[in-house]
Amino acid sequence: MSVKVAINGYGTIGKRVADAVSRQDDMKVIGVVKTRPTHEAGLALGKGFKLYVAKDGVQAFRDAGLEVAGPAEDLFRAADIIVDCTPGKKKEGGTTGEDYKKVYEALGKKAIFQGGEKHRLTGLSFNSAANYSDSVGKGYSRVVSCNTTGLCRTLYPIHKAFGIESVMAVMVRRGADPGDSKSGPINAIEPEVKVPSHHGPDVETCIPEMKDKIKTMAVKVPTTIMHLHQVAVKLKKAASVQDVVQVWEGAPRVMFVNAKDGVKSTAQVMEVARDMGRDRGDLYEIAVWKDGINVADGTLYYTQAIHQESDVVPENVDCIRAVCGLEKDGAKSVAKTNKAMGIRK
Ligand code: NAD
Repeated sequence: MSVKVAINGYGTIGKRVADAVSRQDDMKVIGVVKTRPTHEAGLALGKGFKLYVAKDGVQAFRDAGLEVAGPAEDLFRAADIIVDCTPGKKKEGGTTGEDYKKVYEALGKKAIFQGGEKHRLTGLSFNSAANYSDSVGKGYSRVVSCNTTGLCRTLYPIHKAFGIESVMAVMVRRGADPGDSKSGPINAIEPEVKVPSHHGPDVETCIPEMKDKIKTMAVKVPTTIMHLHQVAVKLKKAASVQDVVQVWEGAPRVMFVNAKDGVKSTAQVMEVARDMGRDRGDLYEIAVWKDGINVADGTLYYTQAIHQESDVVPENVDCIRAVCGLEKDGAKSVAKTNKAMGIRK
């Protein structure tokens, strides 16, 4: 069986999810939705994806010489599942995740939303390692944000192995994506004054046992290439640095880098990703500094880097498999997705 996937919103996340889906043998992209005839519309056609248009902009695409298959609703009707990769806030033309959810519901279609939407939109959030089975066979799910995915990837295995008393994590966030020139800061440091930031509560949507145990603070800095987290975890059971390393060695989509090997900053982490030869130089794994792991007085300290444009991409593939009931076992889905995307573990 090959599940028919529609991608609504072909931007940073949507174009990556479309490529990742195309690499799987149990699902296929039957079309993507664009609002405007930008270069990404041409990119989609070049990759062989059928192009559908949101709202009534078909003529603008035809004027730009782009072949349009029809309005977005035609695509939604033909799909088994829609992966909604539209921007989280109020979108172009005033559409919101809630508006789109009503459209999908009216058509009786399953859908996956992204981390820019609130948990309450679906009442169900997703991380492959932490709670895959919760989404199996469900109508709607939401892949949590890049930062929350990063926290879940490293905290969940620690929680399973040693138990977690409490977590304090600081998110150092990139000001904008590399392809974005609209946001910032350009030359400033912008603290999130709401404490805790939304990331901690968002982790709880995937790991309910973390309820009231994780507090996060966030700050935006003038970089485009990655987010960085500094995390302190009070453990329930005693563990050594070696024990922690062993747990993460077995954890999916977590990899180690070492400052002593010259990987001293997010700049070198992205160079490592480019050297791995991945599409767009993406890094799907969470990069933990192995020589930055410390355990003192029952507290684990570590630093990790998150490639915001791509860590959620394999999670979207697993989420499609869960929601469509293609695979009930999360570990098997992760292994299948990883193999198709060239992710080692
Ligand atoms: P983006 O702006 O790069 O892409 C969004 C795309 O949706 C654009 O092509 C835009 O033209 C299109 N669009 C806008 N309004 C639309 C509408 N009404 N109908 C159909 N398409 C519409 O945004 P993104 O960074 O890909 O973010 C998408 C979602 O993924 C958001 O929820 C975001 O929070 C989440 N997310 C983003 C990142 C990241 O770092 N970029 C990481 C993880 C999750």
